[in-house]
Amino acid sequence: MGLGATVRCRCFEEGKLKPGPVPLDDLYVDDEGYLASRKLDAARKRLDRRRFDARYGQLEKEFYERAEFCCEHEDGEYSSESVSNIAGCAQFRSLVKEAGGESEFPLLSKLLPQGNGGIYPAEKAAATLVELDRFIAKVADVDEWVLCDVETDEEVWVSAQCGSFPLSIAPYEEVWMVGGKICFYRTGCDPVETTHFKQIMPEAPDGKGCWRTKVICFDTGAVTETAYALGSKANPGVEREFYVTSKKAPFLYEGKYWTAERIRRLLVASIETGNPIRWC
Ligand SMILES: [Zn+2]
Repeated sequence: MGLGATVRCRCFEEGKLKPGPVPLDDLYVDDEGYLASRKLDAARKRLDRRRFDARYGQLEKEFYERAEFCCEHEDGEYSSESVSNIAGCAQFRSLVKEAGGESEFPLLSKLLPQGNGGIYPAEKAAATLVELDRFIAKVADVDEWVLCDVETDEEVWVSAQCGSFPLSIAPYEEVWMVGGKICFYRTGCDPVETTHFKQIMPEAPDGKGCWRTKVICFDTGAVTETAYALGSKANPGVEREFYVTSKKAPFLYEGKYWTAERIRRLLVASIETGNPIRWC
């Protein structure tokens, strides 16, 4: 048993929901951040459970079934994360406490819920994200960033505070590891920063002998390219997934990804949709 969380998509607000068993104007967002039906709510209040089931049971069933595919997002979710197990959540809380607690991280200290319900308001997401990044920078020693392979845990690159990846220096591009992020710089393009990405090597080099390798960033969705693939076992056509972690803060790292990274993705989703994080 652990803590999960979702952020609802904006399809209701943007009028993109498909018609379903109750009229669209009967729908509203309840206190827990879920779509609900005024008609069903009113009937629940008016009738005891037996009578409600007899009259509205079928409609209720259809209503919940419909919620799973009423728009392009699975279950109407823009983002869904299993944040951590109970021990991981406790560890995160105690780390925040050690790093300065409520006086230094007033929002982050109260971010994770005690139970498995409730919401975290979207209005607080942006300020909480700033605290989270400050917390990560403080807890994780910036001299000890490591780029790891998700599948093998191979440490592909152990970086000093700043460093350019030796395999990936081309006249028109550089790859740096800065403050826990991998930064791809290409001439004429905006820099792309990420903590977690997939690289897809081409089947063959291009006309100039370059292995133009595609990079897909999971935390931002950005896509870029490098002249060479990272890692020792880079092979034509092979996909590899990498994440940045800190050697000195392994407590933030659990399983394949950081608890902090998952929380970060939820906060970003909340900012992007204007909808709260729903704990579950
Ligand atoms: Zn949607």
